[in-house]
Amino acid sequence: MTRVNELFNGVVMQVRDYREHDQLIKFLTDKQGPAMFLVRGARRKNFKMASDLLPFTYGQYVGWLSKDRLNYIISVQESNHLTHIATDINANAYATYLLELVDRAFDDGKNIGGWYDQVMAALHLIEKGRDPQIVVNVIEVQLLGRFGILPEWRHCVICGRTEKVMDYSEAYGGLICINHFDQDPHRLHLDPKTVNYLRFFATLNLKKVHEIKVDPLVKRNLRWALDKIYGDQVGLRLKSKRFIDQMGTWTAQLKNWREK
Ligand SMILES: [Zn+2]
Repeated sequence: MTRVNELFNGVVMQVRDYREHDQLIKFLTDKQGPAMFLVRGARRKNFKMASDLLPFTYGQYVGWLSKDRLNYIISVQESNHLTHIATDINANAYATYLLELVDRAFDDGKNIGGWYDQVMAALHLIEKGRDPQIVVNVIEVQLLGRFGILPEWRHCVICGRTEKVMDYSEAYGGLICINHFDQDPHRLHLDPKTVNYLRFFATLNLKKVHEIKVDPLVKRNLRWALDKIYGDQVGLRLKSKRFIDQMGTWTAQLKNWREK
């Protein structure tokens, strides 16, 4: 067993009570991806790191990291709170889903390269009040590769053309051009705008994004397309995602009720 006392950047993904006085806290770390920490005494009154270890807190921590066992936090160098995400139900729902998806996409204890910065950029955009659905859609497109789906977004899978009118084909695992629409009757029948956004998202660096403006119809189509791809090809239905879907239903019902 190797245990090294080291400095790492991390964001709190989940907090679970453990035994009488302790907590199990899962971080996404820059050094070892998702990592579970046992925090002794976290449930005691006057626990001195209490505010550094709340959900959606991020910062620099010192801990004992081990690749195959529980990790331990030794001290906190600096911590920050994502207060909008912690208090706004919509932002919170999307950020929770984002982190659950990331947790599923990576193995515990393994370096995730540039992904840590990309996830933090996503959280900061949601924190700043940017459209959380679109931020999460970008990550969903980019994580497909982690789930073993590597869609060809650059050109038609069949002929290699890059022309404007394309559609997504699950059977072919990527885009097909208008000349080959007849090859897959079950293509997703997406409108060109939605397809262009999906292609754009595949390589988008969220650190360079400031404003987000996508019209409501395209947003609905993006949501539909990604739900379809995640349902059919990835086979993933997360609880946090179902909550977002239910929230959409409640909002629609409330709107109907108010308009009556
Ligand atoms: Zn083609």
